[in-house]
Amino acid sequence: MYPRLMEYFAKARDLVSKKSPAMADVKIHVGCPAIDERRKNGSKRSYMHVNHWPGVICVHPDAEVLPARNLWGLYLHEFGHLLDTGGEGEANQAIQDGYGIRILYDENMLQFIEGV
Ligand SMILES: [Zn+2]
Ligand SMILES: [Zn+2]
Repeated sequence: MYPRLMEYFAKARDLVSKKSPAMADVKIHVGCPAIDERRKNGSKRSYMHVNHWPGVICVHPDAEVLPARNLWGLYLHEFGHLLDTGGEGEANQAIQDGYGIRILYDENMLQFIEGV
């Protein structure tokens, strides 16, 4: 189930774990009802979140069809939240500082990275 969600989660986790070994224990949970609720209430850019369960990134099944560059951006952003408990900017900055990868936002305000 959800081969692309699993593939890019594994890739992002491998990358982040190189410098932050604790991140290797992070798990993915597909099908979080809280994200479902947010999407039904009009937040169509809600695909993932953390801090629902410790050490878990919750992902909505609809993210399966997102382009690779968005999956990279979304996952790295969520790992950024796990690395830095500040806000949205701090999450992206943690990835920029730790890995030299800049997380950008596309026309739908969805995170992406360049060169993917
Ligand atoms: Zn959740
Ligand atoms: Zn965020």
